[in-house]
Amino acid sequence: MSLIQGLAAHAAGAQLLTFRYDPGELGPQEVEIGISHCGICHSDLHLIANDWGISQYPFIPGHEVIGKIVAVGSEVRSLTVGQRVGLGWQSNSCGQCEWCMQGLENLCAASEATCVHRHGGYANRVRANARFVAPIPDALPSEQAAPLLCGGITVYSPMRTHCVNPSSRVGVVGIGGLGHLAIQFARVFGAEVIAFSSSTAKEDEARQLGANHFVNSRETKAMREVAGSLDLILSTVNANEEWNTYIQALRPTGTLCMVGIPPSPMAIQALPLISGIRSVTGNPIGSPSRLREMLDVAGRHGVQAKTELFAMGQANEAIEKVKKNKVRYRAVLIN
Ligand code: NAP
Ligand code: ZN
Repeated sequence: MSLIQGLAAHAAGAQLLTFRYDPGELGPQEVEIGISHCGICHSDLHLIANDWGISQYPFIPGHEVIGKIVAVGSEVRSLTVGQRVGLGWQSNSCGQCEWCMQGLENLCAASEATCVHRHGGYANRVRANARFVAPIPDALPSEQAAPLLCGGITVYSPMRTHCVNPSSRVGVVGIGGLGHLAIQFARVFGAEVIAFSSSTAKEDEARQLGANHFVNSRETKAMREVAGSLDLILSTVNANEEWNTYIQALRPTGTLCMVGIPPSPMAIQALPLISGIRSVTGNPIGSPSRLREMLDVAGRHGVQAKTELFAMGQANEAIEKVKKNKVRYRAVLIN
């Protein structure tokens, strides 16, 4: 096999530079994907900056991959060369623990991430265990499918876990890559949707995406008006917010589910949790079976990422635009 070429971060916060590596022998359970598209998830920015203290340099970011299988390992029966597939955040798990046995591989303690301590999708090719590589339904164009592989599954999975249905009132905080998909999926489940955004310029588009209401999260009065009204709030922001205000926006038994990762610990008051049996929880991506289900639902119900395309070589420019919250709503790199 020839060298794989991509764009790697060599130090915290540095510009990505061309990088080649030898992937070695293809493992018996691995597949290699020839990449056509890769979304830029904000988690890539966190990793490049080493916000979580887990980054090892150099590494190639990217975990919203679409492409075609170019090689399959000797034991792979589920995928064939030439097939169009997607790969998200998770690229392997132990396959043997109680969580893997339950089909909750995303909870496996030995879970491996596509671009943590290994090289991801801002590249011409990438490898992963075949169990974490999903065929892409024909109904989904590659450019719109890429953001579903991490952004889509991360918002879809908690809606299934928390049983969102036509009686639900769902809040989505932050209308970015994850948030704009969350609005669409919540509507597919039949819920009434409130979009919370710090960008008033996003109101019209949030409504076009399916939001029934739009709240400027910087307006104290507007935030107070929604008190006690929501069953599930999905926070997709990567910033610190007034979390108590969101907890107060929940109905009794309601849940604030964190998927975005704020930089600081959350200071939350216990009383609203106690008095209304309200919960604060989180969600990591989704299992491989949920991923396949989500892709099928997106294809059948017309959930479409709104994307801005960049050539792979323009990854640094695209990342700058994501940093400035200027992308509507997902930057996708193409080869
Ligand atoms: P994104 O496209 O950059 O969107 C984030 C949104 O947060 C922005 O569009 C903006 O929405 C809001 N925001 C940004 N800066 C803000 C600030 N200073 N104050 C208030 N709001 C701000 O990011 P993304 O790709 O959707 O990812 C969002 C977060 O989810 C990241 O932390 C990422 O690491 C995390 N994530 C977690 C998982 C998981 O498994 N749990 C998976 C994928 C990503 P408005 O303009 O509408 O306010
Ligand atoms: Zn991601």
